[in-house]
Amino acid sequence: MTAKNSNCETCAQKGSCKDELEGKECKGQINRMARVKHKVIIASGKGGVGKSTVTVNLARALQMKGLRVGVLDADITGPDIPKLLGIEDARLNQGPEGIEVPLAEGIKAASMAFVLSSRDAPVVWRGPMKMAAIKQFIQDVNWGDLDFLLIDLPPGTSDEPLSVVQLIPDLAGAIIVTTPQEVALLDSRKAVNMVKAMKMPVLGIVENMSGLVCPHCGESISIFGSGGGERMAEEMDVPFLGAIPIDPSVCALGDRGQTFVQSGTKAGGSFSRIVERLIEMF
Ligand code: ADP
Repeated sequence: MTAKNSNCETCAQKGSCKDELEGKECKGQINRMARVKHKVIIASGKGGVGKSTVTVNLARALQMKGLRVGVLDADITGPDIPKLLGIEDARLNQGPEGIEVPLAEGIKAASMAFVLSSRDAPVVWRGPMKMAAIKQFIQDVNWGDLDFLLIDLPPGTSDEPLSVVQLIPDLAGAIIVTTPQEVALLDSRKAVNMVKAMKMPVLGIVENMSGLVCPHCGESISIFGSGGGERMAEEMDVPFLGAIPIDPSVCALGDRGQTFVQSGTKAGGSFSRIVERLIEMF
């Protein structure tokens, strides 16, 4: 016997819920995202292009504008958000309103890293286990009142994006992060098409690692090329949000758990313009 409530199919407690097992009508799943205004996914075709870096800096930039922000780290096997936000040792707690997640100077963050026994412990899980963890973050975390929830997806077009889209039907859209070289753009096009196939708006493309400004002469060196992200956005008829240069301070700050958006660097300036363009869309 199963409970009649249709919410059971997407409920995080499915299979272990007493009401479901006893065939009773359950009171319905609590929508803990009901008071989150804009849910945005951050995706990339490839790993290492700076997707998590863009996520945390976007979170900080929005928060600096007085908005309430949360980050859901949906990369279950490579959860880097806590490191980049400087809250690696934080833990999750069960509260009366759901799972309570830590704050990184005001930004709520949920990540698999908060439940691992050590920083180096691997998560060797098959798809269904990863999906169950994402479901719990979506349905059981007490997200409360937020203006933006940024969902950092693992790279590629596998089953995590599908789960997120299925569990959060009112997503505002997706930001795709790419680097300028053709091999990254090839995979980014797939990510754009995945978002389009899911009938979700592509809010825009961010081209990261777009040239390096020489610290000595100030000339720009196109290590991975530049402009590829903008050309791709034009070809695929999606907005281009802007480009961020390669900047050693981005990496150094990230390693220290700090964001670069407020750093006064060239990368920080480029990023501020990206955030302005994004905010205009809401
Ligand atoms: P992803 O989430 O796509 O795997 P990350 O955000 O983890 O990528 O970034 C990978 C590495 O590249 C990190 O060490 C990060 O600090 C660095 N990085 C990202 N963007 C830049 C940039 N514009 N300049 C210099 N380093 C960067």
